[in-house]
Amino acid sequence: MAFERWMKEANLIAGDWVGADDGATVDVTNPADGAAIGTVPKAGRAETRRAIEAATEAFPAFRDMALMERVGLLWKLHDALMDNQAELAELLTVEMGKPLAEAKGEIAIGAQYVRWFAEEARRAKGEIVPAGVNGRRILVTKHAVGVVGMITPWNFPSSMLARKIAPALAAGCTVVAKPATATPYSGLAWGALAQEVGYPKGVVNVVTGSAREIAGAMMESPAVRKITFTGSTEVGKELIRGSADTVKKVSMELGGNAPFLVFDDADLEKAVEGAMVSKFRNAGQTCVCANRIYVQSGIHDAFVKRLVERTREMKVGDGREDGVEQGPMIDMDAVEKVEGFVADAREKGGEVVLGGGRHAKGGTYFEPTVVTGATQAMRFATEEIFGPLAPVFRFDTEAEAIAMANDTVFGLACYAYTADLGRAFRLNEGLAYGMIGINSGLITTVEAPFGGVKESGLGKEGGSQGLEDYLETKYVCIDGI
Ligand code: NAP
Repeated sequence: MAFERWMKEANLIAGDWVGADDGATVDVTNPADGAAIGTVPKAGRAETRRAIEAATEAFPAFRDMALMERVGLLWKLHDALMDNQAELAELLTVEMGKPLAEAKGEIAIGAQYVRWFAEEARRAKGEIVPAGVNGRRILVTKHAVGVVGMITPWNFPSSMLARKIAPALAAGCTVVAKPATATPYSGLAWGALAQEVGYPKGVVNVVTGSAREIAGAMMESPAVRKITFTGSTEVGKELIRGSADTVKKVSMELGGNAPFLVFDDADLEKAVEGAMVSKFRNAGQTCVCANRIYVQSGIHDAFVKRLVERTREMKVGDGREDGVEQGPMIDMDAVEKVEGFVADAREKGGEVVLGGGRHAKGGTYFEPTVVTGATQAMRFATEEIFGPLAPVFRFDTEAEAIAMANDTVFGLACYAYTADLGRAFRLNEGLAYGMIGINSGLITTVEAPFGGVKESGLGKEGGSQGLEDYLETKYVCIDGI
């Protein structure tokens, strides 16, 4: 199996591939069949401290590396990702379960982030500001933040790290990354790729193991100047609290509860296609997944009919099989969580019009599910589903739709299908979300700032803002000239 070349069963610390100090390991399994894939080190505080030391030592020389040399390394990193796209995608599918086509797309977008930030690195411009008095010059300059601690989730094990590693390296920061325990290999592969293209030792370090111990060492260290996290809001809040003692910069990409609004004047086919990609991509396990589908009364029944027809066609299976559109869920807890949402909806008067339970394939496969008659009293109105369950709500007026859409602590992505340009502007002004897809169910792109408001997070990934998050702003006042 070609992907094994990238499957590192050790941690990268100071340029060396090493195990945990006590030799402890964690098993990694394939969610498609529960089979063991391999093990990774169960590292803790001591190993993480060494990784932080290595990143601290490597920082001054890396920060001072000629810009075009740093950019050149990013170009090589981009090419290495694309040259090995098939192997890296297979590794991703084997540890995470998503269909191979989606995994290939994930590697490709990761590479695009690398290229984007290689371009942005050349535009990390400061400014000269007019001084209020004569004889003074005011210069504003940009500088790498320093050592960055990164913690990432299992649902996009490669690209969530891409959006952090690429801007960090572009800015001249050094890295200590901790991938999710369920999907460590795609994270470790970033270490292998960085080594292969020639990053100096200590610039990229990757540790796997106990989340509390590794995150604890990052939090406690005054040398770690920034924590960037993608994951649940609950853990994000802990990390914000933990960063307070050493006043670190924080970037938080947290949970979502995306509303997907379909107005009477929408193009029905496009709205259904948008809902399919937004809802069922990655088996519904994305932070920007449509969590609540609100459909205006006039188009409601036609929309539900088409959504059910399209959902019924979905092929469920091992992500490595041809034509599979929905893989397994990550684990049994995830399956039980979705079952809980279905039971709650049934109890409160919802109708399960398609699916609703575990798939005949067994394991962690779940049926693509559609529930109608959804109401704000049901749990999925306020909680993130993270599974292949599409709840359809009915609404009558635009004002009602906006009010229901905003009735959540989250504010990551939202979507709306309408032919009315004026409405599109009103929605942009009225919806409290960091990202809005108008007539699009797939909005992630390297040029745009990805990120949420409210309890969905702080900071942006992608766009020019994505580099800014890894830079400090300094001001120099030159007097007497
Ligand atoms: P999670 O449980 O918060 O885990 C994310 C990462 O945090 C993992 O590496 C995990 O390590 C680590 N972690 C767990 N407990 C920790 C603790 N007490 N201190 C420090 N680190 C800790 O989230 P998940 O279930 O993997 O991912 C799903 C969540 O991520 C969803 O809420 C989703 O919306 C969100 N997400 C957000 C975005 C975004 O861009 N906004 C993108 C993708 C996903 P272990 O694996 O070792 O437990």
